[in-house]
Amino acid sequence: MHVLYGGTFDPVHHGHLRLAIELCDRLAVDQVHLVPCHVPPHRGATGASASQRLELLALAVQGEAHLAIDDRELRRGGASFTADTLRQLRSELGPDVPLAMVVGTDAFAGFDRWRDWQAIPELAHVVVVQRPGPALDPEGAPARLLAERRVSVADALHRSPAGLCLELAPPLLDISATGIRERIADGRSPRYLMPDPVWQAIRRQGLYGACTDGNF
Ligand code: ATP
Repeated sequence: MHVLYGGTFDPVHHGHLRLAIELCDRLAVDQVHLVPCHVPPHRGATGASASQRLELLALAVQGEAHLAIDDRELRRGGASFTADTLRQLRSELGPDVPLAMVVGTDAFAGFDRWRDWQAIPELAHVVVVQRPGPALDPEGAPARLLAERRVSVADALHRSPAGLCLELAPPLLDISATGIRERIADGRSPRYLMPDPVWQAIRRQGLYGACTDGNF
């Protein structure tokens, strides 16, 4: 099964990386593909450019065989719509290979506002990872989609190419990229929230308002 985990990764942090490893275990796959978006369609400007975010991501997964980067959204440019990405991948993988995309409940709550969202479950399985925050509106389209297509074991995803939803509630680290950006801009250390090579590159390049001559 081919598993995609998309995000802004602005910047990548241990919360993302830990979840990706957890996904390898729980979905029984050897690799998870991290897909940085070029321009996130549902939020404002990013703190770092697409190429800077990609460089940080590459530093984060260096030497980690279970994590791969898929930079197709950056190469495609423009707003990054998941349906386009899945269509592209589906045509590369062929109709029979199981394909799954991972999304947090925070993002899934607005799933029915994603461009061409109804095509998504036809192209891939949807793995919904529970994140802290409000529960899904039980009357809303995302909750209905989940209820209609829910399976309770990851094995089921390996047996069909697309169309199923699996909810997972792995332990999550309480780290957010927003918190990291604020911390850096305030001159406070974000060390141990992200791999050290990522922080050192941020610092060297003065990203997110980092002070290049700071001593941490
Ligand atoms: P921001 O604070 O800028 O919104 P973020 O830290 O939430 O960023 P994103 O790049 O927006 O990171 O998230 C990509 C994906 O990773 C989303 O599906 C999100 O739900 C998930 N995610 C973010 N932080 C964590 C975390 N600490 N643990 C597990 N998943 C996370």
